[in-house]
Amino acid sequence: MPNLDEIIITCPYCGEALDVLVDTSSGPQEYYEDCSVCCAPILFAISEADSGEIIVDVKRDDE
Ligand SMILES: [Zn+2]
Repeated sequence: MPNLDEIIITCPYCGEALDVLVDTSSGPQEYYEDCSVCCAPILFAISEADSGEIIVDVKRDDE
């Protein structure tokens, strides 16, 4: 059963704050999701800290 957490990220392209749903139950993963404001492909890098905390990094495709 997916565990979706709502988090707020800042688009690395246009700088807009975005509400996104992240599936924190399936472990570390990377995927692209288009920004709902500027439509650029944001790379989401989901990782888990030793404490169990979920870390969400957003990056540009060209970084
Ligand atoms: Zn954007």
